[in-house]
Amino acid sequence: MLIFTIEQSPATYFADFSVYGVGIAALAAVIGLYAPQDLQTTLMLWVLGGLAFWTLIEYGVHRFVLHRIPPFAAMHELHHRNPRAYIGTPTIVTMLLFTVMVFLPALWAAGVWVACALTLGVLLGYMAYSVMHHAAHHWRSSGAWLKRRKQVHGLHHQFGPPGFYGVTTSFWDHVFRTTRATQAPRSGRTAQLFKLK
Ligand SMILES: [Zn+2]
Ligand SMILES: [Zn+2]
Repeated sequence: MLIFTIEQSPATYFADFSVYGVGIAALAAVIGLYAPQDLQTTLMLWVLGGLAFWTLIEYGVHRFVLHRIPPFAAMHELHHRNPRAYIGTPTIVTMLLFTVMVFLPALWAAGVWVACALTLGVLLGYMAYSVMHHAAHHWRSSGAWLKRRKQVHGLHHQFGPPGFYGVTTSFWDHVFRTTRATQAPRSGRTAQLFKLK
């Protein structure tokens, strides 16, 4: 799931992780060092709010933009057809979207520190998504929880639009009832996965 997908060189693909890693650390440091002390607890809650908000963005964009709206649907289809290719949204595009759709509205509505904290939460969610989505397609073994997330994302790739849109969490899939495939499982292995639900 990506805002729009373009095949990238490995260097560009992995640079996204570094840029956001540094950006997250810098934003956290700025908040920790310069935000008023009496606001720190409130800002921590805004970070958690941003993290939760990300899970809804992830679900909504994947379900409604990437599987329904051209040309994004065609671009996302490239990932479905070749899940292990280094396909990703250019960093500059995601940065622009986070600035215009998260930071600036929050800055206007609630001031600079809330905007920084909310953006930090959303970026942490995006980073978690990026790592988990990469892991789902490239890492062989992992802990039980990640293994389970990989299985769920595997169901999305197998069945596509019917469901399983969440990568970091299935919470919104449960809320909006998109945890069931409308087609019969193609293999015994997939049937087994359904039993896990
Ligand atoms: Zn998809
Ligand atoms: Zn995928």
